[in-house]
Amino acid sequence: MLRDSFGRVATDLRVSLTDRCNLRCSYCMPPEGLDWLPRPELLSADEIVRLVAVGVGRLGVTEVRYTGGEPLLRRELTDIVARTAALRPRPRISLTTNGIGLVRLAAPLAEAGLDRVNVSLDTLEPETFRRLAHRDRLTDVLDGLASAGAAGLRPVKVNAVLMRGVNDREAVPLLRYCLERGYELRFIEQMPLDAQHGWRRENMVTAEEILARLREEFALTEADPAERGSAPAELFSIDGGPARVGVIGSVTRPFCGACDRVRLTADGQIRNCLFATEESDLRTAMRSGAGDDELAERWRAAVRTKKAGHGIDDRSFLQPSRPMSAIGG
Ligand code: SAM
Ligand code: SF4
Repeated sequence: MLRDSFGRVATDLRVSLTDRCNLRCSYCMPPEGLDWLPRPELLSADEIVRLVAVGVGRLGVTEVRYTGGEPLLRRELTDIVARTAALRPRPRISLTTNGIGLVRLAAPLAEAGLDRVNVSLDTLEPETFRRLAHRDRLTDVLDGLASAGAAGLRPVKVNAVLMRGVNDREAVPLLRYCLERGYELRFIEQMPLDAQHGWRRENMVTAEEILARLREEFALTEADPAERGSAPAELFSIDGGPARVGVIGSVTRPFCGACDRVRLTADGQIRNCLFATEESDLRTAMRSGAGDDELAERWRAAVRTKKAGHGIDDRSFLQPSRPMSAIGG
């Protein structure tokens, strides 16, 4: 098992398949993009599946989420999903994506064994989308979302980050859009993980503010906290249910005490936290001939040193040098 020194057990593995992306969301990366990881440093599909197999077969991983960067840009994605679905015990398999390309890929991915999808959608206004993501792709995202539902991926979850003065007036319209289509919306507080280091606490739209805005239009009832488990979202049923909305107060209401996540970056580094400042290099070990036992032991050791919390509020807080797109959100 992947147990840390505080007794938390990591079972939810987030795998970044690439640090590249076809959008430039301003809370994530600068308009000009970033220096992408050199190709030879990226894990191959075989290497990814081997490490996931070690996680699932030896370390108690039960949930595998493919993310990035934009995971749909990885050509072998369907193959990687199919090979993950063939592992025993079979993990649950999910994907976090900006949705661009899902029109073509949702059905093949569902067939390959993908169970669930989270699509990021921060705005319904084409002009705001261009301003926020620096690309004119809103229609592709909305069509992608529809394809996910049509391919039978359930529930279709939507992630939204609100930014003050950019899209913060859209909390209610986004929720209405999702309710009408049966998508489960989750708002995520903006975290200090952008490559440009432009995050300012005062610009962050807090969970409390988001809830206050939603409550102007909807009756929200807090769902049974037992249902939340280790999930980061506080869940609320809307107007008596069954529809729900989630709010992830990553900064103001941290859930580190119940965190069950561990991350594998696209270049094969284990990170025990989004905000970790240290990584464990499984790629070099693997390419130098390490066997599965040794890889598992290195992975266990990396998780053991996980800190109690992200410490964003500590004076000594240091933003990780890797941006979100290179960690895997
Ligand atoms: N490209 C895919 C996407 O956008 O869904 C997957 C990778 S993206 C890094 C994963 C999630 O992280 C997205 O829902 C995105 O909105 C969120 N995210 C990125 N930067 C963030 C930040 N600074 N604070 C909070 N969430 C962020
Ligand atoms: Fe790309 Fe996702 Fe980052 Fe937006 S949040 S720039 S879609 S990786």
